[in-house]
Amino acid sequence: MIDQAGALVLFSGGQDSSVCLAWALGRYARVETVGFDYGQRHSIELEARAAVRTRIAERFPAWAPRLGEDHVLEMRGFGAVAHSALTADRAIEMTSKGLPSTFVPGRNLAFFVYAAALADRRGLGALVGGMCETDFSGYPDCRQDTLEAMQVALNLGMAQDFVIETPLMRLTKAETWALAKQLGGEALVELIVDESHTCYLGERGTLHPWGYGCGTCPACDLRIRGWEAWTAQGRPALRP
Ligand code: ZN
Repeated sequence: MIDQAGALVLFSGGQDSSVCLAWALGRYARVETVGFDYGQRHSIELEARAAVRTRIAERFPAWAPRLGEDHVLEMRGFGAVAHSALTADRAIEMTSKGLPSTFVPGRNLAFFVYAAALADRRGLGALVGGMCETDFSGYPDCRQDTLEAMQVALNLGMAQDFVIETPLMRLTKAETWALAKQLGGEALVELIVDESHTCYLGERGTLHPWGYGCGTCPACDLRIRGWEAWTAQGRPALRP
């Protein structure tokens, strides 16, 4: 069943949000994407967004007519306030609060406020994000209860009926690959390996079986462990 409400996917060009984009294209009649330029150290993830969108439209004719506009919202002022390893030249380490220094306080909350304001203007009812509780990144704004509270706050504050959808919330990284296979078969898996970008250091020199990346930063580490676990299971599709 195709939902006519339409969806706005928070789309960074990473593995998780690329799977979310495919998930939304299978469910919603109209899907738009939004990315955020908050002064990332590298523009590679913003370039990966265009590559993923283009190849999805080429390889999945059923999804192509549903894939609507892409938006990039400038949030450099936010990046300047929420200084961290992702936006400044600092080592990735654990902070005294037990959070990785890659955590940008309030980032996902700010993304949802901007996304909801855009969705309101575009007439889209669902906000889709790749947040996940099970990846051990320890980001408190990726938790289910945070996002449930966010949905309530957005709907109260904007007099709206938005639904925040997080299809990866309960999945392991191996299951995220399995979901990609369920949604679009090996063609989608291959597309995500080749085009999506996860590495914090912006490394795109060598294509590994799991994709591009430095292989050692926390984001690459998660991606590699998920890929290896999924491969060890025989690359199954996720049970619907
Ligand atoms: Zn990396």
